[in-house]
Amino acid sequence: HAKACGRRQAQFYNQAVSASAKARFLLENQLIDAIANNGLSVFYQPIMSADAQTLVSCEALVRWPHPSAGFLSPAEFLPLAYEAGLMAELDCWVLERVCQDIKQARALGLSMPPIAVNLSADTVMDPQLADKVFNLLEQYQIQGHQLELEMIEDAIKGDSNILRQTLEQLVRMGIKLSIDDFGTGYSSLLRLKNLPFTKLKIDRSFIQDLPHNPDDCAITLSVLGMARGLGVTVVAEGVENAAQEHWLQQQGCHYLQGFKYHRPMPVAEFFALLTAALA
Ligand code: C2E
Ligand code: MG
Ligand code: MG
Ligand code: MG
Repeated sequence: HAKACGRRQAQFYNQAVSASAKARFLLENQLIDAIANNGLSVFYQPIMSADAQTLVSCEALVRWPHPSAGFLSPAEFLPLAYEAGLMAELDCWVLERVCQDIKQARALGLSMPPIAVNLSADTVMDPQLADKVFNLLEQYQIQGHQLELEMIEDAIKGDSNILRQTLEQLVRMGIKLSIDDFGTGYSSLLRLKNLPFTKLKIDRSFIQDLPHNPDDCAITLSVLGMARGLGVTVVAEGVENAAQEHWLQQQGCHYLQGFKYHRPMPVAEFFALLTAALA
């Protein structure tokens, strides 16, 4: 009897696995299709000056308006994209869409701030990356200073010549480089010293409990002090309330990003915001 039950359970288990494997396979193919056929979407989240008065730049964040599952956020489909080896293609699609939007903003007479695009480790390690970016800038008649590129510490942990060359070529095009989610990854102090990054983004997990949590205060202060010494600027991610804002302003944080100012928004809404700023 026990044996029979065991077998029965194993059978159910296999069915469950194969059902989820099928769902995964389907989702993966839908994602491949979405990347190939402009089925993804880019939202924009403004980044503010230290006094929170001026929109100084903006982060591009991918979304997937899925045919049946609604609007999917990166947390819901980037893990799949990573596992399926689709991140480099996805990042390139986002880069091109951002270039198209910058061109469109120019056609509308809007003054577009620099736009920051997130790059995965796969993308950063692509030896063709600098060429691809160069071609996009040419194709859409965009200057390098209109783009910024963000990468997490783990994407730049390897000590490879390809990485160094790519980053140096990007900087020569006028593109600014930021380390994203700073403090959550593989220690990057040496990377920071040796690679041409000019901006650090302090991860939201350290900002969340400011100014009440003394550990987070200490960590944020030390990042700000180190950044000052190295001559790089700092963005605080995930600023949601006045207490956080006030503390960060007092400590001399350069830029603020978070729901307190703006949530990520569709491009039409972002253009409307820029239009209102002109008026
Ligand atoms: P990230 O690059 O650190 O982007 C910031 C994330 O924090 C965004 O989440 C943004 O919506 C969220 N956020 C901003 N302000 C606040 C706030 O005040 N409170 C809270 N709770 N959240 C806030 P999102 O859009 O879900 O993106 C999550 C992550 O997915 C990004 O983190 C980035 O690592 C990755 N990602 C997004 N788009 C791309 C892309 O095109 N390529 C790559 N490689 N990664 C991307
Ligand atoms: Mg980012
Ligand atoms: Mg981040
Ligand atoms: Mg983050």
